[in-house]
Amino acid sequence: MTDSIEVRAAELATLAVEASGCTKCRLAEGRLTVVFGAGDPDADVVFVGEGPGQREDEQGLPFVGPSGKLLEQLLGEIGLTRREVYIANVVKCRPPGNRDPRPDEIDACKPYLRRQLQLIDPKVVVTLGNFSTKLLMRTESGITRLRGRAYEWWGRFLVPTFHPAAALRGSQRVYEEMRYDFGLVQSVLQGRLQRDEAGPSDEIEIGPSAPDPEQLDLFG
Ligand code: URA
Ligand code: SF4
Repeated sequence: MTDSIEVRAAELATLAVEASGCTKCRLAEGRLTVVFGAGDPDADVVFVGEGPGQREDEQGLPFVGPSGKLLEQLLGEIGLTRREVYIANVVKCRPPGNRDPRPDEIDACKPYLRRQLQLIDPKVVVTLGNFSTKLLMRTESGITRLRGRAYEWWGRFLVPTFHPAAALRGSQRVYEEMRYDFGLVQSVLQGRLQRDEAGPSDEIEIGPSAPDPEQLDLFG
């Protein structure tokens, strides 16, 4: 049985406090704030980005810079606001100079994301860009190949799409493809996407549907 929302929200808050002093990887040295995540602890949709940028590091909140604006715009098109979803990142501390997070940093940080997903227990997880997609889908395939469909993932759906920064770099095509992917999210939420249409489970190794939520390992 999944715990009540009160219990899960309280556990999420406790985890955020724990993370706020985390020194499990070298990213602790350069950060101003641990950007744990924000939004509805009972959200149907969780977005997973890469890691905080400068604005996020300063404010302690995910996606508050230009990428966040674009994310809000795409959310608006499917009738959602950021308060109704939950937004997190693969690493919770800003990599210096916005470099890519390193494998050992991702490894050190992933227990937080795993617990966030277990506690929020959303219907859909949306991975934004290569880092979160590769981590959650346990694949080396790139986002360009994977996006455009919903995958069955641990008894729910995973919709991989581009990172908003990719659309901001200028391509209208990237933006249009993100709109399509957000449309898939809306279809899942409206129950218009049935499980057997969802994804090529035979093509890509995806976590099996887990019958026992206590056993959920979600990703590596
Ligand atoms: N880019 C990310 O991946 N995450 C943020 O929180 C902000 C920008
Ligand atoms: Fe801890 Fe994650 Fe920050 Fe590393 S990135 S210090 S593991 S919270």
